[in-house]
Amino acid sequence: MTGSRRPPRSETRVEIGGHDLVLTNLDKVLYPAVGFTKAEVIDYFAAIAPTMLPHLAGRAVTLVRFPNGVEESSFFEKRCPPHHPDWIPEVGTLEQCGVSEPAALVWLANLAALELHCLQAKAATPDVPDALVLDLDPGPPAGMLEAAAVALELRELLVRLDLVCVVKTSGSKGLHLSVPLHTPTDSGATRGFAKALGDILAKWMPDRVTTEMTRAVRPGKVFVDWSQNSGHKTTVCAYSLRGRSHPTVSTPVAWHEVEAAVDAGDDAALSFIAPDVITRVANLGDLYLDNLEVSQELPVT
Ligand code: ATP
Ligand code: MN
Repeated sequence: MTGSRRPPRSETRVEIGGHDLVLTNLDKVLYPAVGFTKAEVIDYFAAIAPTMLPHLAGRAVTLVRFPNGVEESSFFEKRCPPHHPDWIPEVGTLEQCGVSEPAALVWLANLAALELHCLQAKAATPDVPDALVLDLDPGPPAGMLEAAAVALELRELLVRLDLVCVVKTSGSKGLHLSVPLHTPTDSGATRGFAKALGDILAKWMPDRVTTEMTRAVRPGKVFVDWSQNSGHKTTVCAYSLRGRSHPTVSTPVAWHEVEAAVDAGDDAALSFIAPDVITRVANLGDLYLDNLEVSQELPVT
């Protein structure tokens, strides 16, 4: 028969939530260090979808795509790819992908969009961040455990102020601490408050913490990056994969896990790859739920 195209062996048609998708190059290895394939990336995003999607709801998603895997070049993509299905809406002024159903996550995974990044505000209310974020960046030789110790100090400070906070690994070197707000505010207020929190710690423990943007002052210290609260800045989304050597995930953790890792001096206890995260969510549920559900106000603005 002429005109009929035999699909490559690794091409599969699937139906997810009423949407037909063609998945391609499923055997392609995207994480060569461990042989993690595109099929496994897609499986991860399909499995995490029910837990991850509420954190993406209403948000414009920035993609980081790794078409030839994490050892080859990657690119940031703000605009939703031009050939996107019509059931993936374009949101925000930059016409970014709105990701509200499992099929959308799978479609993005098929594009090797390993990393999904979001602003602190939803697309409909771009000037109103719904959380304050503290991006804790350890400057070598400081590492994850130093960032974790600083996260615990920040939490203590926030508890004194009657503020709930949650924490996740970045899936890379440090941690992200988030203070859910869901009350009227603006990025000037969250940024100012984040800097004040960081400055208090830097004053208390100047050899361990800095809020200075200059890289030169960071070696051995944890940089509390308050500037991540600026309106245009993104942070990697909870449960996103990272384009690192291993398929690590930005993973919400319980505060007692952070404490235990610091007490044991065990930085590996705060590093998770995709299959770990699926098991954790099955056993522990969504440890980032408070970030969606808690409404509170900053004590000063
Ligand atoms: P790490 O633990 O290694 O710091 P991270 O995700 O926190 O990982 P940062 O360099 O601290 O990485 O940046 C914080 C956030 O800022 C990122 O999660 C990402 O959303 C955004 N970001 C960082 N670099 C870029 C970049 N070059 N272009 C666009 N966004 C970026
Ligand atoms: Mn960081």
